Amino acid sequence: MKVRVLGCSGAIAKDCRTTSFLIGDRILIDAGTGVGDLTLDEMGKIDHVFLTHSHLDHIAALPLMLDAVSSLRKHPVQVHALPETVEALQAHVFNNVIWPDFSAIPSPASPFLKYQPFCTGESLIVEGIEIEVLPARHTVPAVGFAARGTTGWWVFSGDTERNPLFWDRINQMTVACLVIETAFSNRECDLARRSLHLSPDTLAQELANICLASRYPIYVTHTKPSETGLIMQEIRQFDAGQGRAHDIRWLSAGQALEV
Ligand SMILES: [Zn+2]
Ligand SMILES: [Zn+2]
Repeated sequence: MKVRVLGCSGAIAKDCRTTSFLIGDRILIDAGTGVGDLTLDEMGKIDHVFLTHSHLDHIAALPLMLDAVSSLRKHPVQVHALPETVEALQAHVFNNVIWPDFSAIPSPASPFLKYQPFCTGESLIVEGIEIEVLPARHTVPAVGFAARGTTGWWVFSGDTERNPLFWDRINQMTVACLVIETAFSNRECDLARRSLHLSPDTLAQELANICLASRYPIYVTHTKPSETGLIMQEIRQFDAGQGRAHDIRWLSAGQALEV
């Protein structure tokens, strides 16, 4: 299973795109601005979009992508998300004010978009790939995802603060690699706590939950462009300072992970 990183930044700037991953050709995990780097042909092949939550940095490209590919596609794009995320999209994005309601055009019987609500903990099989919906703790209802590849699970935390239930579950899995957010540096730890994101100090506490027998690559995502250097430095510091060093790596847009 190939996972292409389309965007892994916490904000936009030149060469910085917000969260989006492409699994194979047909499954998109979050629809941040990284989607805009795909060709029309690549976008047209996406049949399923899985959303972690309703925040703009994770959905920004969805309305624009649907518009771009609508004339190329014969079947609706399936948008898989929590019911609360679906409601937020309907009320605030596809509301015929910000953007047309693509779940009703060109006709309600044959729309461009179809919502597929899921629950946390649910396991779905899409395009032959098993995807599990993982818990997340954020300011709006949110989830993470795990997708099963041939060497183990690709696990993505989504936007989250400290989250014991997440570790309870992934410690039961054969994890091939973990993509975990660290949105803020330690000097912005108050902001991180209030906006329910991680900072290097809370990331360190979270990584201590990994069971001792497990060691897998940990990719840091969702760093703010203006703080990325500092966040990386703070993570390197804590990881060098403790007994058990983790295999921490940096994620960049354009990278592909084989799982
Ligand atoms: Zn968020
Ligand atoms: Zn975010």
